[in-house]
Amino acid sequence: MANKNQELFRKIPAVDRLLLAPIMNEALALHPRPLVLKAVNQILDELREKIQTSEIIMETDLDLEPVSALVMARLNQIAKPSLIPVINATGVVIHTNLGRSLLAESVLKKFAPIAGGYSNLEYDLVRGERGSRYSHVEEILKELTQAEAAMVVNNNAAAVLLALDTLAKGREVVISRGQLVEIGGSFRIPDVMRRSGAKMVEVGTTNKTHLRDYEEVIGPETALLLKVHTSNFQIVGFTEELSVSELAGIGNRHGIPVMEDLGSGCLVDFSEYGLIKEPTVQEVLSQGADLVTFSGDKLLGGPQAGIILGRKDLVEAIRKNQLSRALRIDKLTLLALEETLRLYRDKRTAIEKIPTLRMICETYSSLNKKAGRLMRLIGSMDSNNFSIELIDGGSKVGGGALPLLELPSRLICLSPKAASAQFMERWLRSYDPPVISRVEKERVLLDVRTIKEGELKTVAQAIRALAEPLVVNKCH
Ligand SMILES: *Cc1c(COP(=O)(O)O)cnc(C)c1O
Repeated sequence: MANKNQELFRKIPAVDRLLLAPIMNEALALHPRPLVLKAVNQILDELREKIQTSEIIMETDLDLEPVSALVMARLNQIAKPSLIPVINATGVVIHTNLGRSLLAESVLKKFAPIAGGYSNLEYDLVRGERGSRYSHVEEILKELTQAEAAMVVNNNAAAVLLALDTLAKGREVVISRGQLVEIGGSFRIPDVMRRSGAKMVEVGTTNKTHLRDYEEVIGPETALLLKVHTSNFQIVGFTEELSVSELAGIGNRHGIPVMEDLGSGCLVDFSEYGLIKEPTVQEVLSQGADLVTFSGDKLLGGPQAGIILGRKDLVEAIRKNQLSRALRIDKLTLLALEETLRLYRDKRTAIEKIPTLRMICETYSSLNKKAGRLMRLIGSMDSNNFSIELIDGGSKVGGGALPLLELPSRLICLSPKAASAQFMERWLRSYDPPVISRVEKERVLLDVRTIKEGELKTVAQAIRALAEPLVVNKCH
């Protein structure tokens, strides 16, 4: 065995010899030499490893031709960009793993001149001196929400951290036990609180927190009353929470500010569109919250950002915090945020032009028509791999907004005949471009709500390709 391995090791082509292979000339013409060498070294290392673990036993596997073919394939793989577009067929509109909100067309058009040129980012054109980057969204945020003051940072996690650090470092923050939430892995309210140096004072129980619970713990060290939107879960049944106005009442009596982390934070009242009522940012502010924070890329439908609105003195203090420099918003985000906010000046325009809002509000009948178009593009098929039908199902808003809400939708349903649903899901995911679907009860579901009109053709092609007899036999 050891001898056999020795022989195989000797058979591995040397780097120089490999580079002289005809196909490598082509590689060197297309790619920088260090990249070619990286691919060569990766493949050679893997071959050695495979010999070691006895995965390779044939000498012919180590001929110049198969090895250079492996190098070529690897080179194509590593030369490709990592961040690529995918088709979201999951029906989750604000899908955090797939990049949350899509920006409106009118927003995208503004990118080139600002990204590729100088701008008045921090330059006051009237006075000819240094200005503030926040000025570009401050007025419009105030106009849309009636807030006294506004400030924006990198994301909502940063907004919460910065607000706590500014207002409550070394002091106490009172929060209901029912709101000590974790929002997807890295953001947990108790941890953020610790990071900010604020001391968390928990009140009430998981399901019920009363006014007297707050009153009992308030003292000279209390710096802030915090309310957190529970976002991705709901406690139902025997529950009680204080409303913002009740909290504001307590805050007022004791001279303590009240802050609400709204999470998604929407500017339009979705109940007007037949959906569940979420308190809007305007409402929360008018009910007496001194400060609210929310994300730019959840229900707002803009870029990743954290928006802080509220009392002028508090926002001023937050802006002056040294930490804000580390959490600041970049110019392209600021541009996207301003342009998205401008669309909100007319509610109809916002719902038509902002993809997140448009997708959430798309009606069943419109989705049904879209699904019909997709089925026609797929055409008739008689595949041994799966059967295909249109079914009713539910889409999700996602992003921690309206967690229990199912938006009625139309879904393409692939019921497997030859391969498993998991195999088909994986196959669609490895398509170029990747099509992300979901598996439910051993079926692959593709929800048309989150598939863009211009993507229907590609999805149809992917499904037709998956129907080919070869696909399952070859890869299973
Ligand atoms: C999503 C969310 C956050 C984090 O917001 P990011 O913009 O992702 O940083 C914080 N708090 C709540 C309640 C949330 O829902």
